[in-house]
Amino acid sequence: MSLTRVILANPRGFCAGVDRAIQMVELALQEFGAPIYVRHEIVHNVHVVRRLEEMGAIFTDELNDIPEGSVVIFSAHGVSEAIVAQAKQRQFQIFDATCPLVSKVHMQVVRYSRQGRECILIGHAKHPEVEGTMGHYSNEQGGMYLVETPEDIDALVLKNPAHVSYVTQTTLSVADTQQMIEQLKRKFPAIAGPAKEDICYATQNRQDAVDKLSTVCDTVLVIGSQKSSNSQRLADLAQRNGLKSYLIDDVSQLTADMLTDTKVLGVTAGASAPEHLVQTLLNHLKSRYQVQVETLDGPVEDMYFALPGVFRSLDVRKQRAEVVE
Ligand code: SF4
Repeated sequence: MSLTRVILANPRGFCAGVDRAIQMVELALQEFGAPIYVRHEIVHNVHVVRRLEEMGAIFTDELNDIPEGSVVIFSAHGVSEAIVAQAKQRQFQIFDATCPLVSKVHMQVVRYSRQGRECILIGHAKHPEVEGTMGHYSNEQGGMYLVETPEDIDALVLKNPAHVSYVTQTTLSVADTQQMIEQLKRKFPAIAGPAKEDICYATQNRQDAVDKLSTVCDTVLVIGSQKSSNSQRLADLAQRNGLKSYLIDDVSQLTADMLTDTKVLGVTAGASAPEHLVQTLLNHLKSRYQVQVETLDGPVEDMYFALPGVFRSLDVRKQRAEVVE
């Protein structure tokens, strides 16, 4: 069986939060010059990180590695209150590229913490977003707990089950999270939570698109990096839908056996993966196979997150410069 069709998921690739975070690093480099320090990878994509490194960004998880007074940007995943306090103490010039949808979860946690409600976070341990979100709970009378699996919920013992809340990581499997929220509601009927789970629009839309792809493809390739939670969930979802799926950084990781028994190939990209990687993969496939390329119908994403004030004026200057050129 040889490859005859390639179907592109829609939407795929960059979300509004990633776009904003990358712009902030680019504009900071333009305004302040290199080096600009970024706490953690600005977004989880090796190509994005490498390009910004070449422009003069330095990525580090350790604030202690950064010289006092430097320009420091917090990544799109967000940081804990302790990291913010430490950065202020070191007199850094701080810019916060936390996605506004992650900041919204932080605000919920702060509210629950002030109310003295214990708070349960559904998420993946060691992910920077989870560390940042957990780090917004400070009420020692209450408590904040991470659950990753249904078994974690079974084992959870609270101080006061009548005064409890939950939040979620933004980039989880929609289906798994809904089941875990139902389980929490059964176990703790008084639990408070967001009107809609905290999974973001970009995660939801990209997973919906993979569900659609799964009805027409044999194999799904997800362009994205291994560290990217939302990209991993896309590959998992295709697999759960009964397809072969592979998460690859770029075309260089494509191997012939990935396309074995594949007549129709689905292609998508995680929220931190640039579109040019998809186009390079397509060109590669077109040069080797007689393939017809189609794009699925999907919702139009017009979400836009404004840049912080200082960057807004810089961005306008950049646009003017482009017009003059
Ligand atoms: Fe924000 Fe969602 Fe994009 Fe993460 S994946 S940066 S939460 S829009």
